[in-house]
Amino acid sequence: MKVGEQNLFGMRITALQGRMVDLECATCHTAGSVPAEEFQSTRCGSDRCGATQGRTE
Ligand SMILES: [Zn+2]
Repeated sequence: MKVGEQNLFGMRITALQGRMVDLECATCHTAGSVPAEEFQSTRCGSDRCGATQGRTE
């Protein structure tokens, strides 16, 4: 796990802080922090991205 890495949901690591990672959404650039072990299962929770989940548009 390193800065710049991106998970399946398009969340990119912007900083590592001990057991926490700072993430930024590649689509809407919403930022947030999650525990490192949750990185791979974290998706963007913004209105913009949440509204388009499961669609191709
Ligand atoms: Zn987003």
